[in-house]
Amino acid sequence: MPQMRKNPLTGKWVILAPERAHRPESHLPHYHPHVEHHIECHFCYGNEQITPPEVLVYGRQEALPNSPGWELRVISNKFPAVDMEKHFSVSCNNSMEVYSYAEGKSEVIIETPHHSKNMAHYSLKQLELVLNSYKERYIAISNEKHIKSVLIFKNQGKSAGASISHSHSQIIGLPILPPLLEQELLLSKNHYKEKNTCIYCDMIALELKEKSRIVFENDKFISFMPYAAKAPFETWILPKFHSDSFEKLTDSQIKNLAEIWKVVLYKLHEGLDNAPYNYFIHTSPAYENTENYYHWHVEIIPRTTTPAGFELGTGIFINISTPEENAKILREIEIK
Ligand SMILES: [Zn+2]
Ligand SMILES: [Zn+2]
Ligand SMILES: [Zn+2]
Repeated sequence: MPQMRKNPLTGKWVILAPERAHRPESHLPHYHPHVEHHIECHFCYGNEQITPPEVLVYGRQEALPNSPGWELRVISNKFPAVDMEKHFSVSCNNSMEVYSYAEGKSEVIIETPHHSKNMAHYSLKQLELVLNSYKERYIAISNEKHIKSVLIFKNQGKSAGASISHSHSQIIGLPILPPLLEQELLLSKNHYKEKNTCIYCDMIALELKEKSRIVFENDKFISFMPYAAKAPFETWILPKFHSDSFEKLTDSQIKNLAEIWKVVLYKLHEGLDNAPYNYFIHTSPAYENTENYYHWHVEIIPRTTTPAGFELGTGIFINISTPEENAKILREIEIK
């Protein structure tokens, strides 16, 4: 059973999920140039009965659930790090050993029926489906009892943590506020108290003025590399309008977001020769009103370097490049 344990020195939780050790590492190679369908892939057409039952499906008309004909499926994670079998309830053996059942909800979004398609090459329509599914499942999971925060993320490429090559994203609901989100909320709340403005809106205004770190922008969204980028080519996408929560996106905003999403991923894919990456969406936690001071965003971190001893020992990242020079490289890549 998955357990959470609290580190008494940092106050941070870790999740122990030994069941995940039995998760089959797909032996299918990670780069099929153009394989539309793979008979052994659990995420491909025809293997719907092998996966846990779908909780959301787009594109299938009238046929039976868990059958082919879909454009996107969301299923429960077969090897979750957290599950809903028991509740989150903190106990302790003594002051050093504090633990709880690792309650939570873990789902997988199979973004496309096409086995080898990279997200950088999706049609706009397919990306809109992906973003819509993020929103729908975000709302559903954040409404579950005991869920305090929801993280949507994607691991692309084996060294970025993807165990199955067929393109997919994940969504995990947790009974706690993760430390990174907690820190962002705290700092943006303090900024709001002090200046009566949103720190992210202020950051966007600065980037629009300086221009050197911008990768792309359209009517509603902007993508830039943060001033203090942790890793080479770390790239963010944010709404230019102030909004604390991803779930508030309208249909027309999703269309606009799909456009910038495609451009940014395409440029990263071309510029970094299909480097593995992770991205995640930081958005308001379900239970707190953050409307005035928080601003949702996407952080994309290409995995061109590996955090090592210094990073693990200090929590300080060394970036071997600058966001200004990297943003220029991406701006110059043409969309074909
Ligand atoms: Zn597949
Ligand atoms: Zn804002
Ligand atoms: Zn963030």
